[in-house]
Amino acid sequence: LEAKEEFSHKTLAMDVMRPRHNDPSLTVLTQDSMTVGDIEAAINETTYSGFPIVVSRESQRLVGFVLRRDLIISIESARKKQDGIVSASRIYFSEYTPPQPPTSPASLKLRTIMDLSPFTITDQTPMEIVVDIFRKLGLRQCLVTHNGRLLGIITKKDVLKHIAQMANQDPDSILFN
Ligand code: ADP
Repeated sequence: LEAKEEFSHKTLAMDVMRPRHNDPSLTVLTQDSMTVGDIEAAINETTYSGFPIVVSRESQRLVGFVLRRDLIISIESARKKQDGIVSASRIYFSEYTPPQPPTSPASLKLRTIMDLSPFTITDQTPMEIVVDIFRKLGLRQCLVTHNGRLLGIITKKDVLKHIAQMANQDPDSILFN
């Protein structure tokens, strides 16, 4: 065992975040390339409480975070009350909406329901610190990045499960309380 490995048993954010290695990838929304139908599908195919919003799937640059319930309410209300909102309508979380060809359906601007500065940590952050941050800031979730690219998410429940697991495995490792 290398000396380095002896020190590296510390759990890091990357060990606790979702998705895990073999899981399907993180469900993200893009800021300006999805339709009402695309986003309704993402809502219906998952049960997550929220979705990170990225510039594009290629870049995985984080733009913000939107709660599932806010998305549902806004889309339902727009479909009822806003003229021309249909499944093919483009949804914009971006500040600017590019000019649309006259034939395309009305677009829906949802920037106002997005959290523009969701809490973010890097994948190398020790879990001790993550637990502390969740406690002190009362976070519900936290996004995990590597070199500025979005990698995963840790929810409050993920943190609680991690704490419970640590307590089972090694009572001495409970640094909390
Ligand atoms: P909770 O952790 O309270 O059950 P969620 O239902 O939002 O909250 O998340 C369930 C699990 O899925 C958690 O382990 C979380 O890390 C993960 N998760 C949350 N949001 C997403 C997402 N958009 N894409 C992939 N996994 C997610």
